[in-house]
Amino acid sequence: MHKRILIVEDEPAIRDMVAYALRKGEFEPVTASDGREAQAAIAERVPDLILLDWMLPGTSGLELARRWRREVLTRDVPIIMLTARGEENDRVGGLEAGVDDYVVKPFSARELLARIRAVMRRSREDDEDGSVQVGGLRIDGAAHRVFAEADSQSTAIHIGPTEYRLLHFFMTHPDRVYSRSQLLDHVWGGSVYVEERTVDVHIRRLRKTLEPHGLDGMVQTVRGAGYRFSAAS
Ligand code: CA
Repeated sequence: MHKRILIVEDEPAIRDMVAYALRKGEFEPVTASDGREAQAAIAERVPDLILLDWMLPGTSGLELARRWRREVLTRDVPIIMLTARGEENDRVGGLEAGVDDYVVKPFSARELLARIRAVMRRSREDDEDGSVQVGGLRIDGAAHRVFAEADSQSTAIHIGPTEYRLLHFFMTHPDRVYSRSQLLDHVWGGSVYVEERTVDVHIRRLRKTLEPHGLDGMVQTVRGAGYRFSAAS
């Protein structure tokens, strides 16, 4: 069965172009022109991926992304933001809202499909990954959840999708130093639209997530080189 992709875009010409490209790429497009229609489409069936326009009438794409990241139903659905040139500076804000990637308008059908496939491949790799434990931190790969383990007690840690991917990469590659660009390649799939400082944003968020459990020291800054994950502080 074809993967269902929800397009949330208020400009009919772009919406139609994207829907056409998706059909040709063997995806099943579903269209919405604003947040309300998108919500209705999600209620009908949760899509496999969402293409979300940044500037929408009513609720903005950024607000929608934040909302969907909070909701259980849509928490793990990859989101690719469609932005106009000039909105690029807001990208870090979008990544903090849990957006997986960006495509800048005007984009070609080929570029869009490549981006969609890369994001889908990444989320599938996550699904297939097994569980991993390093020190007091455990990932349940099947459940897509992170736990702090202390005194034979498990405490669930609420974590954003990008931080989850970052942590999973770190935990499966501990005690090695990775530069920002290496982390971009491994965790973000080498997307040219993601800047290196994005890595710092997510490292900061990951530490903040681990801090209440006293585990933030596992994410270590290696001056002039990058970052390392280690059970030994
Ligand atoms: Ca728009």
